[in-house]
Amino acid sequence: MSSKHVLVINCGSSSLKYALYAIGDATPLQTGLAEELNSPNARHISKDLSGNRQSFDTPNASHGDSIQAIVDALNCEFNLSDSLIAVGHRVVHGGERFNKATLIDDSVLAEIKQCIQLAPLHNPANITGIELLQKQFPEVPQVAVFDTAFHQTMPEHAYRYAIPSEFYTKYGVRRYGFHGTSHQYVASSTAQHIGKPIENCSFITAHLGNGASVCAIENGKSVDTSMGMTPLEGLVMGTRSGDVDPGLIGFLGSQGYDCARIDKILNKQSGLLGLSGISNDCRTLEEQASKGNKEAQLALKVFCYRLAKYIAGMRIALTQCDGLIFTGGIGENSVFIRKETVALLKGLGFTIDEELNRDITDNVCAIQSTVSLPIFVSRTDEERLIAEQSAALCS
Ligand code: ADP
Repeated sequence: MSSKHVLVINCGSSSLKYALYAIGDATPLQTGLAEELNSPNARHISKDLSGNRQSFDTPNASHGDSIQAIVDALNCEFNLSDSLIAVGHRVVHGGERFNKATLIDDSVLAEIKQCIQLAPLHNPANITGIELLQKQFPEVPQVAVFDTAFHQTMPEHAYRYAIPSEFYTKYGVRRYGFHGTSHQYVASSTAQHIGKPIENCSFITAHLGNGASVCAIENGKSVDTSMGMTPLEGLVMGTRSGDVDPGLIGFLGSQGYDCARIDKILNKQSGLLGLSGISNDCRTLEEQASKGNKEAQLALKVFCYRLAKYIAGMRIALTQCDGLIFTGGIGENSVFIRKETVALLKGLGFTIDEELNRDITDNVCAIQSTVSLPIFVSRTDEERLIAEQSAALCS
């Protein structure tokens, strides 16, 4: 086989996602996921171009075992040693140092390690992925694509917290923002859809998955976003609280909760799950809410209200607005969340067409009513953008 390939790796603390692309192709040849790594339930799931799924248990597999298995399987089929031109890694935190996809050498890796203190839950796993793939393919260039990079264009008044400056200068405490690859991807594909250069487009993008954030994009550049120094700030998410009164931390401390426990409560036990006491999954909550479950109804209401409030807030960061974009698992699929959120945004000039909202068939669909500012549902594809940016750096 003569085609050249790019491998995309997204290494999480207990999971590992990958996608293999032939250069120039929008659809991956194969995607896969190893989950619950380092536990008895570890398993491996892969899907090829024709949608064939394979799933098998790999009890107690480590990240290293899993990468070895993935590389062996891909090598059999695609002869990666000859065809691989780049490995693109999703890296969560690039601090202030990285504002674009970057070829990884020793000094870049050292700088990514320095960002661990800003993202102790995420960067260590990303680094494990980089080091394991470097061992597998010592000759192949590795590229880091940062979740924070797109937001490095935010102005200082948007990224600084109103706390003593020494915390910024000493520790880098500021807002960084995340999901940058997704916000950038959907802004570009929507710009293409309306036939306007992205440099002239301004959007408010809402990436709503298990993690969720909104972004204000002015002339193709991020000028504000809802996540902060960590991915905890902002919207209500699956298990994350989003914004709370910072006074809550001291209060819980005075009640005997230590930092690790508070961190766990706000990151893993809050959000839709915490409010509903049922699930972090939007589908389950919609089903329960439609059957009259009050907690599920409240969780969804708080989610939509916070989201609408943030979208309205983002409007002031833009001088003009070419539209509101929904994306991510919830943004792309939940008719209910889009409808309830947009209903709160009437005062900003957004109203939905209910039929269009129910009928999402293309990668980018407009769903506004005839009297509304544009509203789009736009499918995100972070892996594809990581593959494109990695290939561009290495070809
Ligand atoms: P991640 O952030 O883990 O990548 P996703 O972007 O896949 O997450 O989004 C997961 C969320 O999308 C879950 O809350 C799930 O319930 C929601 N979701 C997926 N499909 C639907 C649907 N048809 N209706 C409502 N919510 C959906």
